[in-house]
Amino acid sequence: MAVYLDYNATTPCAPEVVEAMLPWFAERYGNAGSAHALGHLSDGAVVAARAQVAALLGADPAEIAFNGCGTEGLNHAFRGVFEAFPGKRHFVTTAVEHSAVHAIAAWLRHQGAEVTVLGVDGQGRLDLGAVEASLRPDTALLSAMAANNETGVLFPVAELAALARSKGVLFHCDATQAIGKVPVDVRAWGVDLLNLSAHKFHGPKGVGALYIRRGVRLKPFMIGGGQERGRRGGTENVPGLAGLGRASALAAERLPGMGRVAALRDRLEASLLGAVPGMRVEGAEAPRLPNTSLLSFQGLEGEALLLRLNQAGYCVSTGSACSTGQREPSHVLRALGVPPDFARGTIRVTLGHPTTEAEVDGFLQVLPGLVAELRAQDPFAR
Ligand code: PLP
Repeated sequence: MAVYLDYNATTPCAPEVVEAMLPWFAERYGNAGSAHALGHLSDGAVVAARAQVAALLGADPAEIAFNGCGTEGLNHAFRGVFEAFPGKRHFVTTAVEHSAVHAIAAWLRHQGAEVTVLGVDGQGRLDLGAVEASLRPDTALLSAMAANNETGVLFPVAELAALARSKGVLFHCDATQAIGKVPVDVRAWGVDLLNLSAHKFHGPKGVGALYIRRGVRLKPFMIGGGQERGRRGGTENVPGLAGLGRASALAAERLPGMGRVAALRDRLEASLLGAVPGMRVEGAEAPRLPNTSLLSFQGLEGEALLLRLNQAGYCVSTGSACSTGQREPSHVLRALGVPPDFARGTIRVTLGHPTTEAEVDGFLQVLPGLVAELRAQDPFAR
């Protein structure tokens, strides 16, 4: 079996999560909207899942709208605000958001909106002064991620939310990578909207949620049969939601275990920095997720290193999974201003709750040799 070090791309469903989902496929198959016993059973599962997600976020269950994925939550937040506030046509977001946000920004511009994209410094940090200066009376929404999927850099969500509130602007947070890795508390942070995706924290793929603070006016993204209090139509994915609920409870239980993961990640980085010349850890000086290492090797092709690691039995990624296969450095590396001879040789190593000491040791034994081999093959490499 290969060693999986790509936990920001997706995670395996925890056995507890699979167990929680199983009864809702074939045995308890009722439609949660049906007015009979089987329907009531399913509705009970949806109610329980909503309470579990709300507990994880410090929200009220009525503020949780279930959906199909992180991308859907992003669409609902941006497009829901766009439609609800026709008098406000300015949006603000950052250069390092997930590519889905940049695609939605392009759509907004096509609809006539103006989108300001804030840059970051060389460590992936925002300038709060620039954020404040960007907010205007016609700004509908400020959207910033809690944690970056490539670098793991954490944005100061509470400060950003407070800035937005002081200017009468709604604040949305993409917490897709933060859940299960750092504490997330919608009240302490003061966010208006926040989205998450179950498959990033040992839940099933194709299930997510959008936190909509009570009182926030938002147009539905999926118009349909009135499910989710009219916020998202479509028959509820009861097995998926049971899995999301269990994964949410598990994420809260396992959060203290992230200290162990952080120690493993720190050891991995320190060991590689000592063993491999011409290597950088991107975003290392900024507050980061405990599990994420974005490593850049001067004069290497990240894709080539990924393939060699794959042959050696290690699964990693080059930047975000969505940009795998593209030769150009990702938009995040460009936003950080990583020099091109490093940016092309970047791999993302992300650990998870199941990662062991032995797995990291094996990786540390293999990687320096592969880097040296690849560099030896390229006469222009460092
Ligand atoms: N936002 C961030 C920060 C992500 O890392 C991802 C997935 O990679 C998404 C959004 C999209 O989530 P999903 O795959 O559930 O659509």
